[in-house]
Order: sequence, then structure tokens, then C-alpha cells
Amino acid sequence: MNPNIPFRDKETALKLSNAIKNEAKEDKHYKIMEVCGTHTMAIARSGLRSMLPSNVELVSGPGCPVCVTSQGEIDLFFELIDKGVSVVSFGDLLRIPGSNGQSLMDKRAHGADVSVVYSPLDTIKLAKASPDKHYTFLGIGFETTAPTVAALIMQAKKENIENLSVLSFCKTMPKAFELILSDTSLHLDGFLCPGHVTAITGISLYDPIIASKKAAVVAGFEPVEMLDAIYEIIGQVNKGEFHTVNKYRRVVPDEGSQAARDILSTVFYDNDATWRGLGKLEKSGLGIKEEYAEYDALKRFNLVPKDITEIKGCKCGQVLTGKIKPSACGLFGKKCTPEEPVGPCMVSSEGTCAAYYKYKLGEI
Ligand code: SF4
Repeated sequence: MNPNIPFRDKETALKLSNAIKNEAKEDKHYKIMEVCGTHTMAIARSGLRSMLPSNVELVSGPGCPVCVTSQGEIDLFFELIDKGVSVVSFGDLLRIPGSNGQSLMDKRAHGADVSVVYSPLDTIKLAKASPDKHYTFLGIGFETTAPTVAALIMQAKKENIENLSVLSFCKTMPKAFELILSDTSLHLDGFLCPGHVTAITGISLYDPIIASKKAAVVAGFEPVEMLDAIYEIIGQVNKGEFHTVNKYRRVVPDEGSQAARDILSTVFYDNDATWRGLGKLEKSGLGIKEEYAEYDALKRFNLVPKDITEIKGCKCGQVLTGKIKPSACGLFGKKCTPEEPVGPCMVSSEGTCAAYYKYKLGEI
């Protein structure tokens, strides 16, 4: 795509839609996974599926950080509250249900100290303002968010703040990709790769995808950008020639950010983590290094995530691995709605179930 073409241009979008229709072979079904929850929401919001031929299918992947947080990890939020800790969180987590059916919002309504922040660093202001309380930031996110969580820990150590810790359930994408790629039942042809994560990791993250003879295209979040990426994927599949293409260069450098990776490796080490839907993946999480142990809420409060089965009837695990669409969950739109969510895929603003419900995608 010519970078000078406005990425919200309607005519360009229509031209790309037609080009996809011409490029897609009638006798082939193309299955593309959008990995990032922001893509899931942007696709739903823009009505992008209506611009694609019926044999080009988009399925969601494990790129919504709230959705992949395991039930055992979520339950520790409530254990912290029960220990009298003041918890600090992004707004997205407030309505996530624990195994007992209660959310952080419910807990707050009953007197628990739960603060919502826009940046993890805001936790420092809270801790300084109330030195008699202990604040724990709930660290949920991928490579994109994790550097800001690491920055919080580094700053707290620098300022010698003692009434602050982090519950780090940050996760990284390589092992999740490995698992998805090994699942041949998914029959994937390519990936719409997450721009935000790539801005940190660089495009080398996608080498295993190319080695598996599937397409990997980094895309922005505007309809023209996503259509352009889908056109590229279909072209590579038709030719049987695969290489990573970065279509989001206006924001994402091919090499990512070494500075952000340095911050991550200063504070975190790769630990084993349990993902909703994917199970336990070796070295797929970010644990806090020994040098910063005093800021590790797991150690400080002696917490261990339990092996808890997911909420009864909720099929989030299958939704976020592209195995089923939300409408295949018997609770979708009935017992599970954004007003009364049962699972995290309906809670999160990047969740697939929330996107399908909000934009009435129903049976798609
Ligand atoms: S509709 Fe609700 S219960 Fe069903 S998979 Fe989605 S979040 Fe889980």
C-alpha cells in the first residue's frame, strides 16, 4: 500500500475489498487469525467481515490479555483484598468474575479499596499519599504493557517505596504462537499480527509462523490497513511463498524497541504461566527477578495461583483459540451479556464475545 494514501479512505477500502474478492480462489477457504484483541474489536466495529468474500474467515486468537488470564490468577486478586491489601488496576479488570462469582467492582461496593489507574506508575502516587496502606498493582498484559509495569517496579525501588508491590501475571506471545501453530485442527493460513506487541518485539517474533508456511502480516487498526494486510496474506497463500510483512511501519519499526526489551529483562525473567484456553506454557510469563523480590506480591503475601477449572458453561478458552465463535457458547447473549458477564471474553473491552455482542455479529 502506498503510505501516502489516507488509511481511512473509503475508496481505497472498496478497491482493496474488490482486490481480495478477485485474489481469493473460489475453491479455497482462507482462515486468518487476528491475534490482537484490538484487531478483534476494530474488525467488528468497522464491519470488515462484510467486505470480505464468504471463503475468507477471520477467527480470534489469544491476544486479549484479560481474557487469557487464568481463573487461578484472577482469584488471587480477591485473596489480596481478603488480606486487607489495596488493589490497583486498569479499568478492564473491574468486572472480571472470580470463582465465587464476585468482581472487583462488587468488592469495592462492599468497602474494599480498589483503585483504577491509567498508568501503572500512578500506583506510586497512591502509595505516597497513604503510607499506612499497602498497594498492589495487578499486572496483566503482554509485551506492550509489561515495560510500564517494569518501570513501576524500578521507580518504586529507586524511591525506596515500601508500601507497594506488583502481582505480575504479564505474559509473552512466543509460546502461545508455538502452541497455536502446533494445532493442525485449526487449519490456519495466516495471521494478522498485533502491531502493539510488534512495536516491542520486532517482526522476528513471527519467524516460527513463516517456518510453518503460513503468512504473518503486521497490520494497523484502520479498515484500509486491515484489508491491505488480508490481501497480502491471501496473495502469499496463493503463491505458497511466505515472509513477514510489516504493513504498520508508520508506527512499528521492524526491529521493535530494544530500550523496552532492556527494561523487561532488567526486572523480569521468563517463568511458566497458565493461560486460559492454552493451559500451562513454559517460559510464557514474566516473573519478578530476585533483585526486586520485595516488590513481588506473590512472595510478599505468599500467594500461589490454584489450578482452578474455568467458570461452568463458559467457553472463553475455545473462543480465544479460534476453535469456536462466541455464538457457539450456550450462554452468549442469554446468561452472559456485557451488563452481566459470565466470562472474561465478555468483560474485556478487547474480548471477542464483547465484540460479537456489541456489534450484533451473532452467527458470523
Ligand atoms: S459468551 Fe460468556 S460464557 Fe460464553 S464464552 Fe463468551 S464470555 Fe464465556
